[in-house]
Amino acid sequence: MPAVRSPPADSLRVSRARLEQVRLRIAEAARAAARDPAEVLLLAVSKTFDAAAVAGMAACGQTDFGENYVQEGVAKIDALRARRPQLCWHFIGPLQSNKTRDVARHFDWVHSVDRLSVAQRLSAQRPAERDGMPLPPLQVCLQVNISAEPTKSGAEPRQVLQLAREIAALPGLRLRGLMCVPAPAATLAAQRQPFARLRQLQRELIDDGLRLDTLSMGMSADLEAAVLEGATIVRVGSALFGERAPRHG
Ligand SMILES: *Cc1c(COP(=O)(O)O)cnc(C)c1O
Repeated sequence: MPAVRSPPADSLRVSRARLEQVRLRIAEAARAAARDPAEVLLLAVSKTFDAAAVAGMAACGQTDFGENYVQEGVAKIDALRARRPQLCWHFIGPLQSNKTRDVARHFDWVHSVDRLSVAQRLSAQRPAERDGMPLPPLQVCLQVNISAEPTKSGAEPRQVLQLAREIAALPGLRLRGLMCVPAPAATLAAQRQPFARLRQLQRELIDDGLRLDTLSMGMSADLEAAVLEGATIVRVGSALFGERAPRHG
């Protein structure tokens, strides 16, 4: 197992301050929406940051981490699992069929399921146990292209009901709800619109009989809007870890 250095004290202080600030933002928005802040899970998006950075956030009490790239995520999980078995790992990036096996084995959640073929593979490839312990079904969200952007990943809203019914029936998965990454918007009111649409779509699925409890929406720039519209998971990267270097070049 690769050794992970302990984070130096000054970087721990920075991590703790950023975590505190993001928790305050969530709490403020929850209060404004008359919601209990405990209903909102903070998912720390650690893509491009190394295992030591994750270990630092974990040392500050953060338990849930999100990764976008399969190889990078699996490497961090392998580096940290033995020392921090309680961490919960969420895959949130675009998922190709040839990468589903690693995701089904290593991650606890997948937020970016957007077609049946990928869901079927994840279900079939989810192991019954890991390290001798029974492994629950993979917890999944169906990603919706809520801003109708031609280049964005995510299922089309009109396909969502049928797709959700089919995914909910797969034995290796537990469908928890919907996820979106809307186009950036400048004002709070504009940010709220796509989140409100996702919440409405979720309402329709629940009325259809699906038992869903998760809305994965909101990032560093728009988490307040998402919490106001009912987010139960906000996915926050740069506000916790700092600006990311460009991944390529
Ligand atoms: C990178 C990423 C995030 C976090 O973005 P920030 O703006 O850094 O908070 C959240 N969700 C997804 C799907 C991402 O790819």
